Amino acid sequence: MKARNILNADLHCHSVVSDGTLTPEALAERAKNGGVELWALTDHDEIGGQHRAAAAAHAQGMAYLTGTEISVTFAGETVHIVGLGFDADNEQLNTGLARTRGGRTERAREMAEGLAKVGIPGAYEGALPFVGNPELISRTHFARFLVESGVCKDTNEVFRRFLTEGKPGYVPHRWASLSQAVQWITAAGGVAVIAHPARYKFTPNEEYALFSEFKAHGGRAVEVVTGSHSAQEYIKYADTAREFGLAASRGSDFHSPAESHTDLGTLPFLPGQLTPVWELLEDRIQ
Ligand code: AMP
Ligand code: MN
Ligand code: MN
Ligand code: MN
Repeated sequence: MKARNILNADLHCHSVVSDGTLTPEALAERAKNGGVELWALTDHDEIGGQHRAAAAAHAQGMAYLTGTEISVTFAGETVHIVGLGFDADNEQLNTGLARTRGGRTERAREMAEGLAKVGIPGAYEGALPFVGNPELISRTHFARFLVESGVCKDTNEVFRRFLTEGKPGYVPHRWASLSQAVQWITAAGGVAVIAHPARYKFTPNEEYALFSEFKAHGGRAVEVVTGSHSAQEYIKYADTAREFGLAASRGSDFHSPAESHTDLGTLPFLPGQLTPVWELLEDRIQ
């Protein structure tokens, strides 16, 4: 029998329904080619692609878990909470996500104003052709426009120079609360997962608060192996998962063939001695 952690599960990626560049169908094909056995599409604040993704997974012969990645404001930082295995038709979850998406257009217009002030006019109109879902204009779409128009050489440079805190195109935004995100996911029968914890600029005390509050609200898992973590961070967050009694997840966070350095299905397996998140979701696998 295979060890319980040896499953090519990729439970984090993005399609044109949020800020990815591939359709759910193209992602499913790519996941299959990458050897993925259990897949989830986790668009930002949006589950409009779930029925398509599940059908595409089945057409490729892969098992599927529903997914999303909810933007949350915690201790003044944006934190991402992945939801897996929920009922995509759940009303509370759909309403909560619609509310979270709500401020994005206004924020995008303010981002464009900030960019215009530093000599980059028309960024809102410029970003729109990159947007696949009118309710989901994101910083990524601005980044693609600034690369296409030759202002920066890649999206990383755009974020560094223009789209992160203190930079001209950055607009502070209040997203969902941690308790709301966890509650929407669990009320819909899913499991809440802290996404890529090493990405947040928290002090050890703030990080401890994130994990303990997440757990107190009913959160049950953390991403250990993700495209955003180094090998050392796999070890660090495997320890954190054990310390807080959380299950572990694995996902590439793939967005685009041109931009993402981690492809679907290519990450190392989860370290042993952890409970894989899919063991909590056996009855939710489609
Ligand atoms: P938003 O939800 O509009 O704030 O956009 C956040 C998205 O921007 C993330 O999901 C990533 O896809 C992307 N992103 C954030 N930071 C960076 C970065 N440093 N380089 C490239 N993409 C980034
Ligand atoms: Mn993204
Ligand atoms: Mn994220
Ligand atoms: Mn993501």
